[in-house]
Amino acid sequence: MPTGIYFRTRETREILSLAAHTRIRAPHSEETCKRIGDAQRGKKRKALLKESIIKRTETRRKNGWMKNPESTRLKMSINNARAMEGRVAWNKGLIGYGAKENHWNWKGGKTPEVYPKEFNASLKLKIRERDKFICCRCGKTEKDQLEKIGRVLSVNHINYDKKDCSEKNLNTLCVGCNTQVNKDRGKWTIHFQEMIEKIYDNKILNNA
Ligand SMILES: [Zn+2]
Repeated sequence: MPTGIYFRTRETREILSLAAHTRIRAPHSEETCKRIGDAQRGKKRKALLKESIIKRTETRRKNGWMKNPESTRLKMSINNARAMEGRVAWNKGLIGYGAKENHWNWKGGKTPEVYPKEFNASLKLKIRERDKFICCRCGKTEKDQLEKIGRVLSVNHINYDKKDCSEKNLNTLCVGCNTQVNKDRGKWTIHFQEMIEKIYDNKILNNA
């Protein structure tokens, strides 16, 4: 039987249709009946699964996609980092374009570091409060970001050392700026350190 596009005359189609409708089949054997039944049940299960996925998608669309509280998201990111620890990445040993130092985000073949315990929701809130819930780089407000993507502002480690969670090493950034400051790290560290010094100098003056 040829496949692909080919032309059937009207007569041919009529004959084929008639043949399909008048074909006499021998009754299925017991075994075949059972097999067909199993396959049908499988289809029903699949349909149910599909239905549940559709329902879940609808709920998420209604409630927002990332409605996990910040504490849960932090736990998830820690768990993900732990799961990745010591694993060999799919692109390890890759040669050519985009490999190792040719890739803009290459960090020397290190696996992601885990944040220490003290980098928790209450510390992050404290830093965001100190920075008046405004991104230190572009001035976007937390309210603005929440309305747009349903996420609070991020807290950034100024010297990129995730283990250094002193308040002077933390500042508030929006999601976009948090990604941007991964380039030109040295420049941003100096820029933000100067900014923080000013904040703390002013605080001391205000309190005196
Ligand atoms: Zn920003």
